[in-house]
Amino acid sequence: MQVRLVVFGRQGAGKGTQCELLSERFAVPHISTGDMLRAALKDETPTGLEAKPYMESGRLLPDDIMIRLIEERLGADDAENGFLLDGFPRTAAQADALLELLGDGIDLAVDIDVPVEIVKERMVERARDDDTPEAIETRLAAYEENTVPAIERFADAGLLYRVEGVGAVDEVFGRVVSAIETRLGEG
Ligand code: ADP
Repeated sequence: MQVRLVVFGRQGAGKGTQCELLSERFAVPHISTGDMLRAALKDETPTGLEAKPYMESGRLLPDDIMIRLIEERLGADDAENGFLLDGFPRTAAQADALLELLGDGIDLAVDIDVPVEIVKERMVERARDDDTPEAIETRLAAYEENTVPAIERFADAGLLYRVEGVGAVDEVFGRVVSAIETRLGEG
């Protein structure tokens, strides 16, 4: 059963882990803009070099760059029948661009909801290279300012399902899977 899915969640909400499991379960490519950009950075491609200062300071890249990147990625053969978007859209403009590009080509947007205080503790523990305390604060603030409006676009379109994200990985996964199966069953 393939699905066209968008996954939202604050940094540290466990979104990456859930996306890995979901991509396996529904046999769709996991398209993570963070992973794409980190790979580009490592390979020093033009996009990577452009992304570098933004990523290091935890700021968002310009919308036009991101929209171009995702349009290209969604055009690849493996995304033809389904995909899981992780990290895109992250602004209202990106959400509008995606909804315009795909129209009714999205089955569901899932928001994995974990309170700010809990995600801060988790992020300090995981200590990725770009997880300096300043970058964490900047990214969380950007989420409230930019991504919450993006999520609203999916709520307005009747596509949003909010999942309680506190709990064991398996529990949260179960909640997300049943939301997706319910939606696919309706379609
Ligand atoms: P996190 O969820 O911890 O912010 P990601 O791996 O999703 O990490 O993204 C890492 C960085 O890549 C972001 O801080 C941002 O600079 C950039 N980035 C990823 N996706 C987007 C996007 N859709 N729009 C703008 N910038 C992005």
